[in-house]
Parts: sequence; structure tokens; C-alpha cells
Amino acid sequence: MLRKTIQTRMLVALFVVTTFASAPLSGLGQKASPVAPTKAQVEAVVREAYDKFRSDTSGKNADYIPFLAQVDSKMFGVAVVSTDNQVFSIGEINYAFSIQSISKVYTLALAMEELGADRVFERIGSEPTGRAFNSVNGVVEMPTHTGNPLVNAGAIATTSLIAGKDANEKWNKILNFYSRAAGEKLTLIDEVYKSEAATNAGNKALAMLLAKYERIYADPFESVDIYTKQCSVGVNVIQLARMGATLANNGKNPVSGEQIIKPEHVPYILSTMTMAGLYDGSGGWAWKVGLPAKSGVGGGIVAIVPGKGAIAVFSPRLDDAGNSVKAQKVIEYVVNKLDFNVFSPRSVGLKGE
Ligand code: GLN
Repeated sequence: MLRKTIQTRMLVALFVVTTFASAPLSGLGQKASPVAPTKAQVEAVVREAYDKFRSDTSGKNADYIPFLAQVDSKMFGVAVVSTDNQVFSIGEINYAFSIQSISKVYTLALAMEELGADRVFERIGSEPTGRAFNSVNGVVEMPTHTGNPLVNAGAIATTSLIAGKDANEKWNKILNFYSRAAGEKLTLIDEVYKSEAATNAGNKALAMLLAKYERIYADPFESVDIYTKQCSVGVNVIQLARMGATLANNGKNPVSGEQIIKPEHVPYILSTMTMAGLYDGSGGWAWKVGLPAKSGVGGGIVAIVPGKGAIAVFSPRLDDAGNSVKAQKVIEYVVNKLDFNVFSPRSVGLKGE
């Protein structure tokens, strides 16, 4: 009896999957996921979240990089890009903010393309640090010293893995890789770079400390300089969502169709983002949202819904861990309304009886 019920259920499930898979491409990433919500549902929920949190003024701009303190903290934009390149955006969508720490995800991806995942894991590791993103103590106390590729120390070490005959060649390779992930040419925001380069003694100290432990793989100061440039790349919220959608789409850019990241590397990148994407806010994020994501002190956060798409939010006011307050609230709201939490069986359509 029980067996029969299970068999019937499996048949029904198969029927549902096939029916949805051949349905018109009206949902978010419908092609890749049979349980994607419709475009209209996504738009309605994102609009709701935008209106709900629009006048929230909690948090404050990063000010340890002088340029960022001057950015208009009222700016607010949201974009969703699906794996089949449907785009929905609202609010400030033209302003190019600095990508900051979100860059670390893509330099990690590039390092894996160049060295393979195993060698990157050996040289950097992927352990949550539970400490501030720029922690010196973390470098001293963590057995790996580098921690993971998404805190400053591990990220600078990851940047040092990128090969090239000189700093310029390495930097151009990185910028070009980001542009391919975004599906359009990205550029450096020179004022951000200058402002950060004039105030990055802390990152230089981290790099020298890594040198002491033999956990940096090129000249420490050259690596910090390239890292500072990568953090100063400008993206608007749609470009950022598209970079996220490339990860959601198994490493293939949904606009250009180019395979930027090897599919077998994607789970390593997404698991690292889940563990450390919001630094010492990552545990709370996994608890409440349940999606791989990455924040930057420029005010951006991108969250990945594997197989379906990505949502990016820009709002400069940050919490104490350095994560945009409004971006976290918007993404949490949207994810819960649309059942995107990957740890919840609801994300694959199991709603209970
Ligand atoms: N460029 C910034 C830094 O090195 C990036 C930090 C961040 O976005 N959390 O401090």
C-alpha cells in the first residue's frame, strides 16, 4: 500500500516536472528550474520589498575609505536577473558603485580556472573566520592563516595566485574576467582606487603577515595594489545581478552564452559564499535567508539562487559587520516570500500536506 502510494507520488512528481519543464519561459529561470516562480510573482514581491524598505535609514556608509563616506546614502536599487536572462530592476539602476569585496568571488573563480580547485583550496582554504573581514588576529590565529578567499587576507592571497608577466597583465586579466561574468565591459573607478590606495595600510599589514607565514604567492605590495584595483571596479545593480546569474547558471553567462567558470567549480564558490560571504554576519544570514551571497562595503549585496537566477541590491548604509542593511532586508524578504531558501524543502516545491 505504502509502496503503491510512493510510486503514484513519484509518477505525479514526474508529470509535474515534465509539464513545467515544457511550459513557456515565463518564470524566473524557468528553463533550468521546474519550480521557479512566474515573472509577475517575482516583480510583485521585489516591488513590495522595495516600497517596504525604501525609507529605512538604519546603518551608515563605510568611512574608512574616504570616497565611500561621500556616496549619497539614499541611493537604492534592486535587480533580478534569471538564468534565462530575464531582467527586472527598480530604483537606482544606473549608478556604478564600487564592487568592493564582491570582487573576491570572481577572483576566486579566475584562480580556480587557472590553477584548478584543489590547488586553490590548498593555498587559501575555505574556513569561516568568525572575525571582521580585515582581521589581523584571524591571520595569526587561524591554522591556515589565509582563512578563506572572501576575507581580506585570503582574498589578497587569492589575487596573488593570478599569473602574469607583470602587475598590469594580472590586473587586466582580472578586469577582463569580471567583464565577461557581467556580459559587458566594466571599468575601474579611479577616484575610489586613489582613495582606497591612500588609506590601505591595514591591507598591506595583512599581506606582510601572510608573507611571514608563506601564505602569499607573489610580491605582497603588488598583490595589495591589484586587490585594491579589483575592489574599485564599478558595477551598477543590473551588472552585479548578471554576474550573480552567471554563477546561478552553472558558470555560463546568460547573455553571451559564454562558459566563464567551469561547472564543477560552481559548488565550491557557492559553498564558500554561504560560509563567509557576509563575514561574521554569515551565520545569521544562512539562518534567515539560506542562500549563497556576497556583500561589499560599497553597499552592494548579490545573492545566488542556484539554477534560477540572482538578486542584487545596492544601498550604501552598512551594519557593524560591513554589510548593507537595506540590501539584507530586501533579499531576506524576497527570498522568504518566493521560497528560495536552499535549505528549505519548499525551495524544490515540497510545501507539505
Ligand atoms: N576594499 C575593501 C577593503 O579591502 C573591501 C572590504 C569589503 O568590501 N568588505 O577593506
